[in-house]
Amino acid sequence: MRPEILTTLFSSLISLSGVGPESSRRLENLVGSRVFSLLCHCPTGVIQRRLVDKLSMARPSDVVTLLVSIDEHVKPPKGKRLPYRVRCSDKYGGRLDLVFFHPQEIYLLKILPSGQERAVSGKVEYYQSRWQMIHPDHIGHPLTLKDWQGPEPQYPLTQGLTQKMLRKFIDEAFKRCVTLPEWISEKIKAKAKWLGWRESLVSIHNPQKNEEINPFNLAYQRLAYDELLANQLSLQLIRQTQIKSQGRPIIGNGELRKRAIDSLPFQLTEHQRSSLKEIFKDMAEPKRMVRLLQGDVGSGKTIVAFLALLNAVEAGLQGAYLAPTEILARQHYQNMKRWADKIGVSVGLLTGKDRKSERDEVLKCLQDHSLKILVGTHALIQEGVVFKDLGLAVIDEQHRFGVSQRLQLSQKGQSVDTLVMTATPIPRTLMMTTHGDLDCSFLRQKPSGRKDIVTKAISTDRLREVIEALKREINRGGKIYWVCPLVEESEALDLTSVEDRALSLETHFKGKVGLIHGRMKSIEKEKVMTSFIEGDIKILVATTVIEVGVHVDDATVMVIEHADRFGLAQLHQLRGRVGRGEQQATCLLLYQGSLNSVAQARLQIMRQSNDGFRIAEEDLKLRGGGEILGLKQSGMANFRFANLEFHQNLLNQAHEDAKEILIHDPFLLSERGKALRILLALYEQDAAVQYLQAG
Ligand code: ADP
Ligand code: MG
Repeated sequence: MRPEILTTLFSSLISLSGVGPESSRRLENLVGSRVFSLLCHCPTGVIQRRLVDKLSMARPSDVVTLLVSIDEHVKPPKGKRLPYRVRCSDKYGGRLDLVFFHPQEIYLLKILPSGQERAVSGKVEYYQSRWQMIHPDHIGHPLTLKDWQGPEPQYPLTQGLTQKMLRKFIDEAFKRCVTLPEWISEKIKAKAKWLGWRESLVSIHNPQKNEEINPFNLAYQRLAYDELLANQLSLQLIRQTQIKSQGRPIIGNGELRKRAIDSLPFQLTEHQRSSLKEIFKDMAEPKRMVRLLQGDVGSGKTIVAFLALLNAVEAGLQGAYLAPTEILARQHYQNMKRWADKIGVSVGLLTGKDRKSERDEVLKCLQDHSLKILVGTHALIQEGVVFKDLGLAVIDEQHRFGVSQRLQLSQKGQSVDTLVMTATPIPRTLMMTTHGDLDCSFLRQKPSGRKDIVTKAISTDRLREVIEALKREINRGGKIYWVCPLVEESEALDLTSVEDRALSLETHFKGKVGLIHGRMKSIEKEKVMTSFIEGDIKILVATTVIEVGVHVDDATVMVIEHADRFGLAQLHQLRGRVGRGEQQATCLLLYQGSLNSVAQARLQIMRQSNDGFRIAEEDLKLRGGGEILGLKQSGMANFRFANLEFHQNLLNQAHEDAKEILIHDPFLLSERGKALRILLALYEQDAAVQYLQAG
C-alpha cells in the first residue's frame, strides 16, 4: 500500500485541471503517467523574457515583451504563399510586424483589434529592414504586460504541447505537491546546504539563468541524492533478507568435478580456476552466497557455472540454471548435458514451450530428486516447479531479470546460494545501483589460443569489395554471419531487411546463403543452424537472434549492417560470436551515408578495443547507464534526477548513508524511518516496500 500522503502525487495527469484526454495522452508519452512524473520533467534551458519600453532597445533574436498599438491587418494576396501580417507600433513610433502562417483570420481580428493596445511577447527578428515577431508566444490585454517578463524555463516538448501549456500543467501539479516529511538527516542536509525536497523541486522548475540547470546545482544534487538513497536502501533491504535467512554450508567431495574436468578437451584458464575457488569458498560458508561472475563473451562462464552446480550435486542438493531466452536455455542445456552425461549426472530442461507430458516428467523427477540440474527460462520461476532440495541457482545474463525474479528463484529452496553471471561487464557505478554491494569474480582472460578480432568500419558504398573479400574467405574455409538490425523491437514488423539481404547475397553466393530470424519456428531455426554448422550454408543472414545464439567455432567473419544503430555492448556481443576457434576472425561494421559524431565515436571504440570492460565503460559515457543493460525495461537504474556520470560521489554517499540507516533502524520504524518509507514509495521501490511490510 502506498502511503496516503502520496495519493495526489500519484494520481493520474488527467486529474489536473486543464489537462484533457488529449493532452494527458501526450504528456504521458513525454513524462509518464503520474502527477509526480510531470514534476520530474526538468527544464533544459531558460529564456529571459525582457520587458522593453522601446522596440529599438531589442536585439535580433531577443525574446521580449512590449506594449504596441495595432495599426492594420494585412492579408496575403490570394494564391500567394505569404504570411498574414499585423502591423503594429510602439509609442515611440518603432514599427513591428506580427507574422502568422495559416492563421484563422477571425480569431486574429478578435485578439488584435485595430486601433487598440496590446501586450505582445515573443522572439523578435530584424528582417528586410523591419522588426517582426513570428507567432508571438503571448498576446493579451495591456494589464498582462507584467506577467510576461523575466526568466522562463524551457522544457523538452512533444507534438501538440507548447511551453505555455507545459508551464501551466506544472503549476497545477505543484498545487498537488504536498510537503513531505524530511528523510535526510539534519546533519547531512546542513552540511550539503540542501533545501527541503519540495523547495528543491520548486527551484528546479524556476531557474533564473541557464547556468543553474546543471547536475551540480544544489537542488539537482538534493533530488539526485534522494533518488540514489531510495535505490541504495532498497537494494540493501533486499540484501538484508537474503543474508538474514539462514544459509547452509555446501561442500561437495570433489569427485564429480574432478571427473568432469578430466573429460574436458581443454584446460581451465587461471581466471576460471580462481573464480571457482571463490565460489566454492562462498558455498562452503554457512551464510548465503550472492556472487556475480563477470566475464566477457566467450570467456567461458558456462563451465564455471556447471562446476559450481556439480559442487551442489556432490553435496546431495540440486541446481538450477536460469537463462533469459529459450534459445539460450536450450544451448546451455545441450552443453551441460554433454558434460553431465559423461559423469552420469542428470540434467533437465524446462521452457515455456514444453509438451505437457515432458513437463510433467521433468517436474516429477525434480521432486523425487532423480533430476539433479534443471536448466530453463522464466518457466523455472513458476509456481508448479518444486525442487526436492535446491542448493544453487545460477542466473545467466542477469540484467534481463528484475530483482524480484532473482528473489523468486532463490525462494525455491530453503537457503539457496546464488551465482549471477553477466557477459556485459558492468561498470562499478552501475553495479552499485543495480546490485548494491555484491561479491564479484572476474574472467578477464579469454581461453588460450584466441586472437583479437580485427574490426573495420566500412561504408556500404564499398559493398562490392566486401563481397569479394567474403568470397576469398569462404574459399579459405571460413564462414560468415551477416547481421541486420530490426527497426522495431518486435521481430514481427521488419523482416524485409534481412530477407532482402539474403536474396541479394544469394545472387553472389548461390546456394550458400541461409536466413534465420526470430519469427521462425524453433525447428526451422535449428535446421538452418545445423546446416550452417555442418557447412552447407556459408553465410548466415540473421537478425540479432544470434546475439545469444549457438556457437559455431569455424565462423570467422561477422558483418553487421547499419552498425551505427546498435549499442556498443550489443556490437561487442555480436562480434563475440566469431573468433571462437584458432583462425583469425574479422568483424566488418557497415554503415550507410555519413555518421554523426556519436556513431563515429562508437565505431572507433569498436575498432580499437576487444576488451568488453572498456567497451562497457565507454558505452556508459556515450549513452548513460540504463540503456546498455536494458535496465530501462527492468525498472532499475532508470533515474530521473541522478546521472551516474556526474553523481558518483552522491551514489557513494547514499550507499554509506543507507548502511548507517539500516544499522540503527533495520525496519524503518523510527520517525525518520517512516519518512524514508515514503521516499521508497515515491521512487516506486516496490520490492523493498513489500519486504518491509512482510518483515
Ligand atoms: P561465455 O562466457 O560467453 O558464456 P562460454 O562458456 O559459452 O562463454 O564459452 C565459450 C567457448 O569457450 C565454449 O565453446 C567453451 O566450451 C570454450 N571454453 C571454455 N573454457 C575454455 C578453456 N579454458 N579453454 C578453451 N576453451 C574453453
Ligand atoms: Mg554464456
